[in-house]
Amino acid sequence: MSTIKLHNKYFKPFISSKQISLAVAKMAELMEKDLNGEVPIFVGILNGSFMFAADFIRSYNGNCEVSFVKLASYQDVNSTGTVKQLVGINENLEGRTVVILEDIIDTGTTLEEIYSIFRDKKLKQLKIATLFFKPDVFRKGLHIDYIGISIPDKFIVGYGLDYNGLGRNLAAVYKLTTQKMTNIVLFGPPGAGKGTQADILKDKYKLIHISTGDVFRFNIKNKTELGMLAKSFMDKGDLVPDKLTIDMLKAEVVRNAGANGFIFDGFPRTESQARALDAFLTEKGERINGMVALEVPENLLVERLLERGKTSGRPDDQDEEKIRNRFNEYNTKTAILQEYYQAQNKYFGVNGVGSIEEITNRLSTVFDNL
Ligand code: AMP
Repeated sequence: MSTIKLHNKYFKPFISSKQISLAVAKMAELMEKDLNGEVPIFVGILNGSFMFAADFIRSYNGNCEVSFVKLASYQDVNSTGTVKQLVGINENLEGRTVVILEDIIDTGTTLEEIYSIFRDKKLKQLKIATLFFKPDVFRKGLHIDYIGISIPDKFIVGYGLDYNGLGRNLAAVYKLTTQKMTNIVLFGPPGAGKGTQADILKDKYKLIHISTGDVFRFNIKNKTELGMLAKSFMDKGDLVPDKLTIDMLKAEVVRNAGANGFIFDGFPRTESQARALDAFLTEKGERINGMVALEVPENLLVERLLERGKTSGRPDDQDEEKIRNRFNEYNTKTAILQEYYQAQNKYFGVNGVGSIEEITNRLSTVFDNL
């Protein structure tokens, strides 16, 4: 399970469907024992409880009746504090045992409404069962009989719960993430124009551009230890070893801690770099929003690189054999990253042939939606 997007917000896995079904089965078993042969009317509170009610009632082995009321209290990610009864209950409840099935109880406003709806119905007893409960924000002194899973005060979706209408169909529960950055991997073979475009896009989107190639070249020029270590690999067009590259990348991110986000250019270049980047960002509550790839045919790239080699001063641009080796490294180690990000629905290919401005416009259309 990975992070999902609903409307404009991101949610990450929080409670698995297995944990939920265990909690639901336990509640049903306990209630069956407590009711001791009595036939209850289960009342599900719509919309959120439809999935919990269905699973709960399916695990409940005794006889029972089922009904629903529809209440609404959430408008956005914050509780509005007002509850409306949209669909009422028609059954005669006098002398009956009613068990309320709630998906979640947080402040208790809905629960208070439920108590007031059933107060004058002359029930034998009213019991409250909620799958999720937020003890930290519960403000009412009302009794709750059965609690499935207590959770901290996080906004959650899935298993019947929604964010502005979406997410109810998810089998597991996800929580809102507090991601603050926009992090983009600018991808493509050597010579695709990543550096040129990143230079324009970093200003447009107020992001920090990290080119691992540039950082290595800076270190080589300044004869640092890192530069010395990287030089022999780079001069041949080989990739620099992962450990060295990953440590350097992390240091660059840490150095720019207050950034709105990053355009990673030339990183990741191997699957192990991609995994290290994901783990590193997850630790910070951040993520990669997307891999945006410049797609350019290889024959055009060789021409571009040889042309650039006349002025770039880069030894790896001037010799066709080194250029071919860089493509070989790209095709054998880097190109598979397309699948890595595709599997997370984060790959966006862009036609990289055209004028600089045309390509910037194509990239911007993708960036605007990330
Ligand atoms: P670039 O400027 O992105 O074309 O990178 C030039 C060279 O720097 C590559 O051919 C590699 O030798 C080295 N390099 C840059 N980024 C990486 C990376 N993520 N992993 C390994 N080597 C890299």
